[in-house]
Amino acid sequence: MTAKIIDGKLIAAQERDELSQKIAADESEDMPVLAVVLVGNNDASRIYVRNKKKAAAEVGIGCEVLEFAESIGENALLEVIDELNDNPHINGIIVQLPLPSHINSLRVLSKIRPDKDVDGFNPYNAGLLACREPEAIVSATPRGILKLLETTGIKLVGKHVVIIGRSNIVGRPVAMLLLNQDCTVSITHSKTENLPEIVYQADIVVAACGQPKLVKKDWIKDGAVVIDVGINRVDGKLCGDVDFDDVLEKASFVTPVPGGVGPMTVAMLLKNTYEAFQKQRLNGNVHKCSCGKNGCHCEHR
Ligand code: NDP
Repeated sequence: MTAKIIDGKLIAAQERDELSQKIAADESEDMPVLAVVLVGNNDASRIYVRNKKKAAAEVGIGCEVLEFAESIGENALLEVIDELNDNPHINGIIVQLPLPSHINSLRVLSKIRPDKDVDGFNPYNAGLLACREPEAIVSATPRGILKLLETTGIKLVGKHVVIIGRSNIVGRPVAMLLLNQDCTVSITHSKTENLPEIVYQADIVVAACGQPKLVKKDWIKDGAVVIDVGINRVDGKLCGDVDFDDVLEKASFVTPVPGGVGPMTVAMLLKNTYEAFQKQRLNGNVHKCSCGKNGCHCEHR
């Protein structure tokens, strides 16, 4: 068997096109605006933020990047989040991770107003997802993974999904999302014994452990779907958590790195932002300024 490659770049482009058409057709004078909080000088974070800003502009979403020095204190950062929460011009707020070690990330993420939490990392949204509440804002990477799985046409109900990784931002929300799709979900991590044997039982493997090319073909059952979330740099080259060339002959579908989950994450973040904007507008939370210009700093509401 040679696996079909799931073209995340193409699917993400279709998602962004669809979104951009919706935003263009929206007759409102307001435009959705995403605020990105960036702390410190992490090169990878800067690249991610630049890509998000560019993608937002292309679909018609405003993006304000707020940059702070590595040395910013936690309380000062919490105040920034409070201001963004109260700012009616801002519809979505994300904090680019990782934060410096002197800042408690969970405390900062918990401060984001749930209806503006477009990364879905606030424990409130994570809890709603765990409780199968459709109101939850589902974080972008898991949402993108679900979309990629849907494009394969395989029926998810009853499938055994093995997730490698249990982080709050990938492993756990993917597990909840796929459990809510009636999959049978196993979550594995660095202390899991007999990992290859467990992965071999999977109909669908989601690798999100940050270990370059950890998953080999011997781990993969014939015909399994393999979703590679990992982004690793080895000798200056990007690779995932799956040995892509190796698993090609065992899997039915596989995502490449780059060009798989990564572009979907950005597309779904934009979708979350637009949906947050729509909901806030329905609830009367969006700034309605008589100057007609979004992004203005006047006092009209
Ligand atoms: P974390 O480091 O927060 O979590 C990694 C998880 O993998 C942990 O649960 C850890 O276990 C587990 N793990 C580590 N080593 C092993 C191993 N040898 N065997 C089994 N499990 C292991 O990473 P993230 O969840 O934030 O990210 C995971 C990967 O996905 C990274 O490469 C990251 O860059 C990428 N990523 C990609 C995104 C995209 O859009 N494509 C978005 C977000 C992340 P334990 O809990 O025991 O420590």
